[in-house]
Amino acid sequence: MDIVLATHNLHKVKEIRSAVGDLPVTWMTLEDFPHIGEIEETGSTLLENSLLKARTVNAITGLPALADDTGLEVDALDGAPGVHSARWAGENATFEDNVIKILQEMKTVEKSNRTARFRSVISLVDGTLEDWVEGMAEGRITEQPQGVGGFGYDPVFFLPEIGKTFAELSLDEKNKTSHRGAALKKLRHLIENRLAAQPQHREDVSL
Ligand code: IMP
Repeated sequence: MDIVLATHNLHKVKEIRSAVGDLPVTWMTLEDFPHIGEIEETGSTLLENSLLKARTVNAITGLPALADDTGLEVDALDGAPGVHSARWAGENATFEDNVIKILQEMKTVEKSNRTARFRSVISLVDGTLEDWVEGMAEGRITEQPQGVGGFGYDPVFFLPEIGKTFAELSLDEKNKTSHRGAALKKLRHLIENRLAAQPQHREDVSL
């Protein structure tokens, strides 16, 4: 089975590979299909956007495609940035711009009201066969960035039960506790089931 990871985000590729890369699958990324540019996320939900990315890459490559769409929901901001997490500070916003904007908007919010969650939806599309899984992680927005690992909002997303931000965790530790890690656990079962349902090649075909 071949699967194309429908993302240009190498951090996501690393996390996905670390969680499910051992499955008997030939993993490809958009680096293997350089003619596929940025896919515009026009959906209004994480599910719509993850399906849109997976469907687009499946249609272009003819191969099963997997796409992740993730949003950070901050309670004090009424669930924002949510589906707009990537471009929260503007069209070409960097991870750092988005972090600065969140901290600025939360400047006057007390510690007890800084609750937030990450939600990831991962879709796997192979023609008319479409599946998706979801994962969530609950935490709190810090008052300053902490840690240098991970990406995106990781330096300001604090896990109270661990006492660290995602940016202070190793890749494995993040996958054990994160939204994407939770979704990837479910994805593993989904892929295993698809592999089990595939017709086996028999070398001892008798006539
Ligand atoms: P996307 O639309 O799923 O690529 O992600 C939206 C934005 O959410 C990204 O640009 C990142 O800033 C942020 N993001 C996605 N996943 C994570 C994560 O695991 N940790 C921190 N930020 C993330």
